[in-house]
Amino acid sequence: MLDDQNSYIQKVQCKIEGIGPFAFDVVRDDRIDPVISGNKWRKLKYNIEKAIQNKNEGILTFGGAYSNHLIATAQAGYNYSLKTVGVVRGEELHPESNHTLRSCKKLGMELVFISREAYRRRKEKSFLADWHSRFPNYWIVPEGGANFYGAIGCQEILTLADRHYDHIYVAAGTGATAAGILSATQRGTRVHAVSVLKGDFLREEIRKMLWYMLGEEDVVELYMQRLELDTTSHFGGYGQTKPELFESIRSFYEETGVPLEPIYTGKVLHALQSAVVREQVERDESVLFVHTGGLQGGKTFLAELPFLADL
Ligand SMILES: *Cc1c(COP(=O)(O)O)cnc(C)c1O
Repeated sequence: MLDDQNSYIQKVQCKIEGIGPFAFDVVRDDRIDPVISGNKWRKLKYNIEKAIQNKNEGILTFGGAYSNHLIATAQAGYNYSLKTVGVVRGEELHPESNHTLRSCKKLGMELVFISREAYRRRKEKSFLADWHSRFPNYWIVPEGGANFYGAIGCQEILTLADRHYDHIYVAAGTGATAAGILSATQRGTRVHAVSVLKGDFLREEIRKMLWYMLGEEDVVELYMQRLELDTTSHFGGYGQTKPELFESIRSFYEETGVPLEPIYTGKVLHALQSAVVREQVERDESVLFVHTGGLQGGKTFLAELPFLADL
């Protein structure tokens, strides 16, 4: 079955202005697979198992035009002989619109393009029922792989860690990865979920997913106390960037050899470095940085981050 043997923990050190060298650990989930990368692999693992167990014909899921989740699903379906359907936001798009969609198509994914208005209904029961009747024997996975199976797959990110950390830093889009990690922590660890989207709706999303896993209101609240939601590192919103973001990704790559991209993991680096500067994370505290992958999506930024071309 799916195997995370290529992931490992790397010790790194980077210079932080006004502070000096700062050392922490990175979980290299970006190394799991070049296409089914990082947390997308974690979130697909038990969804694939479920689809196989159900004897489903395939997997149907949802995503935006550059979605790391869509391409990961297309590749996983290809590897495990499951058909895949990708419902894509934006009716003006087509399979040749960009490299992500082109690759999905090549891997055999059937792409269905829908309007932004229709896409907004993606969590509604009636909307899902329509897709279910159109593709009756498909396992339907929500956008980003953010369901119970996705979250429990992310609990396993921490199985590589052989010690207790004071702080864990992770990017959050749907919050499923952060919820999975949070549910696997012990007392004394703080999980910093760095929102790559504007707003603070993620707190509720993470609470909901914790509830799926833990099932008990009081226990959920206990775990929620370990959550630090960072809502100030999104650089203006999803996909938004600034020159200083690229600058810190470039110097981090030079210092450590760890490649990051500006949509998710680069923003987490920024959040961590700012927290160290503000002394919210102390130099003698232990930090685990979760590299959730996503490097294929970063390839839109080759002009600013040329090293991404070689990965
Ligand atoms: C999709 C993605 C995320 C967001 O994960 P969620 O579980 O949706 O919060 C984080 N990092 C990378 C690299 C991603 O591709």
